[in-house]
Amino acid sequence: MDLPAKFWAEQDFLGGRAARSFVVVLRTIGCRWRRCTMCGYWQESGTPQSPEALVRQFEFAIRKLKGRCYAEPPEILKIYTSGSFFDDDELPPAVRAEILDRAAELGVRKVVVESRPEFITPERVRACVEHSENLEVAIGLETSDDFIREKFINKGFSLKDFLRAAKVVKGEGASLRTYLLMKPPFLSERAALEDVVRSARAVAFSDVISLNLCNVQRNTFLEKLWQERCYRPPWLWSAVEALKRIKEFYRGVLISDPVGAGSQRGPHNCGRCDRKIAAAIRRFSVTQDLNVLAEPTCDCMEHWLKILGLEELTFCVVPD
Ligand code: SF4
Ligand SMILES: [Zn+2]
Repeated sequence: MDLPAKFWAEQDFLGGRAARSFVVVLRTIGCRWRRCTMCGYWQESGTPQSPEALVRQFEFAIRKLKGRCYAEPPEILKIYTSGSFFDDDELPPAVRAEILDRAAELGVRKVVVESRPEFITPERVRACVEHSENLEVAIGLETSDDFIREKFINKGFSLKDFLRAAKVVKGEGASLRTYLLMKPPFLSERAALEDVVRSARAVAFSDVISLNLCNVQRNTFLEKLWQERCYRPPWLWSAVEALKRIKEFYRGVLISDPVGAGSQRGPHNCGRCDRKIAAAIRRFSVTQDLNVLAEPTCDCMEHWLKILGLEELTFCVVPD
């Protein structure tokens, strides 16, 4: 089967402006860990693929995207696997090199890949940097707090592991993108807000920080909590507040794509303002202009402010 798991076009921020970006999610054997409480990406993985089939998946996605989305080629190419780009069992080294060579032929200005820290070694990163002038490695740290990451997310690595991998990435001349998770399970709205701001401060050396707003994926532990009404995805107001506060001290590129915004499973406010707040967050991500976050308002902001205070006094989620 030579079909990738997913592919789409989006915008990102590069060189001071919005940039065309292609995202390709290759279907590999998937993440080796697959135990994070909020993650259902293992459902996108498949049977082992031959090196040729993996490259064909990539070619298929690029062909479709070129025909469908833009007359001009992408400036950023994100090559994901719902796992780790540097895991040799997912993508053998020769496949990584081949795909990066093809990305270079497209003339992209930046390639973004993702990996857990344990697969990030100087040799693997160096080999890829040789095939890609402007490589960015994204690591899902989620939070700088080891307790939250271990007990609530079950991520399976420590801040120390992340820092080692980050040093390797930077040391080999690649740039670093750090994912932070807004509202892991078992945190109140306020605690989640404080956690993500604190985490951004701890990883402010990252070239890009991506604030990932937690959404409820199917067949996950988080879904069970959500069904039991013990979890509510973050308010979009919390995301806006976090972006404003992080931007005060962070000099790198700060982005957030509110996936599933407005749905009960995704980050949401009252239902009336979700669309415009999500649009403002997306606009901020491709402009870095804080003014766009100040524009939209809604009565539900009062309700959100109350929840920030009230939830600390309860033992479960305050309903909408
Ligand atoms: S490491 Fe990433 S892909 Fe693997 S289970 Fe955790 S969140 Fe999912
Ligand atoms: Zn509202």
